[in-house]
Amino acid sequence: MSVLRFDSVSKQYPGGHVALSEVSFDVAAGEMLFVTGHSGAGKSTLLRLVHLSERPSRGAVLFAERNLLRVRGRRVAMHRRDVGVVFQDHRLLTDRSVYENIALPLILRGMRRAEIAKRVRSALERLGLGPRERALPGQLSAGEQQRVGIARAIVAEPRLLVADEPTGNLDPTLSAEIMALFAELPDRGTSVLVASHDLALVRRMRKRVLVLDQGRLVDDIAPEDLADG
Ligand code: ADP
Ligand code: ADP
Repeated sequence: MSVLRFDSVSKQYPGGHVALSEVSFDVAAGEMLFVTGHSGAGKSTLLRLVHLSERPSRGAVLFAERNLLRVRGRRVAMHRRDVGVVFQDHRLLTDRSVYENIALPLILRGMRRAEIAKRVRSALERLGLGPRERALPGQLSAGEQQRVGIARAIVAEPRLLVADEPTGNLDPTLSAEIMALFAELPDRGTSVLVASHDLALVRRMRKRVLVLDQGRLVDDIAPEDLADG
């Protein structure tokens, strides 16, 4: 079963800039992969097409074999429940506790309080944030803040997690820790697509790598073809 498919997708922004050019790839359910490339290669654009903050100019994006072209209006919000998003700057609510930040997606979908508490505690536990649940984001380290961002993205158990430069503000040790957390998600049924320009870090993860260059998909590397170093 395919969770995500790009079928000859091109994206041209108003003003004429071509950000993606005839990009095709397929992500199987339970797969983890990276998309890399220099700044401006089209990584963020590719992710925006998945969570529907942008639309393709040509070609089709399919999610769980459904064409996202047909997902409009209030169905966009429903689609976003199936796609967890992690940003580089994590975008936490600064006046809400760690617990409240993670609970938010569940509150928004009207889940019962007891069920919310159970799921939030489980996410806190998995990400090693238990002791920090009453803290405000400003009281946390950069690595802890990013872990809260990840907890919020996975608490509703999305089919796919997309992360845009999730380690961009972290040192190498913390970056490796965050990537290891992502690598555990496929075992729990969430596929993972991470955009990163940090090729050394990506190679160490030994996962499939899509390489973008000026909007073109120039390589699709299988884990076994990643050379050492
Ligand atoms: P990356 O994430 O790899 O840095 P982006 O997807 O952000 O790449 O950008 C790809 C290209 O599209 C860049 O040249 C960028 O300047 C351009 N671009 C991105 N977003 C917009 C936008 N909203 N309007 C116009 N051009 C954009
Ligand atoms: P995101 O976190 O969604 O990737 P960015 O920080 O890359 O957002 O960009 C913030 C906003 O600026 C987005 O709405 C994006 O579309 C827009 N943007 C990015 N690059 C360009 C560009 N070269 N020209 C115009 N708008 C851009």
